[in-house]
Amino acid sequence: MPFSANDSVYVLPPPAMPSVAVAGTRQYFPVRRIYCVGRNYAEHAREMGADPTREAPFFFMKPADAVVADGGVVPYPAQTTDFHFEAELVVALGGGGSNLSAEQAKAAIFGYAVGLDMTRRDLQAGFKKAGKPWDMAKGFDHSAPCSAIVPVTQCGHPEDARITLHCNGELKQDARISDLIWSVPELLVNLSHFVRLQAGDLVFTGTPAGVGAVVHGDHLLAAVEGIAQLSVRID
Ligand code: MN
Repeated sequence: MPFSANDSVYVLPPPAMPSVAVAGTRQYFPVRRIYCVGRNYAEHAREMGADPTREAPFFFMKPADAVVADGGVVPYPAQTTDFHFEAELVVALGGGGSNLSAEQAKAAIFGYAVGLDMTRRDLQAGFKKAGKPWDMAKGFDHSAPCSAIVPVTQCGHPEDARITLHCNGELKQDARISDLIWSVPELLVNLSHFVRLQAGDLVFTGTPAGVGAVVHGDHLLAAVEGIAQLSVRID
């Protein structure tokens, strides 16, 4: 029996649209794509054995349905014994385009959130060493917890907010957005030279130093001070 949606007929029920709550409303932000930025804080680049001064920004992706809502549960994934948190400022796009200028990039931002780029670090290390793609180290089920999105109309554009990660109440990551090697507009400009950005895209902007492993039962609290916070439990 066929399934209908948007005037099309499908052979299967179409999957639900992944979404993230919009803070202070009963509305949701539909997630089209999730882009992530690698090594965008100097201290973290150094802790991963890279030189932060010599590299253009680089990007990878997670599936849109990897989002986990604030208050949610992240099942400890298969294929790892070194499952890491990475707290990151997240940019939510309400517009887009290709080859954006910095002004156009800024104008395309719908709002901001805080997210976790959950990473199977042991797989990532192995893939890096073998020159293989990172995808299965980064883009797996439940790998993109994300707080409610705060519209720019409420929070403006955070430029020097503090970003923190507590694991079981202990402070593990503590930095400022101003420490980003590539600013948010710079990232969006650069990314828009590779792909056409569109409304519904999320961009995880990179993590500061202090990444670490979690175990079953851990509680993670990520925050961008004055903007957003995200609480998840590892199951
Ligand atoms: Mn990351």
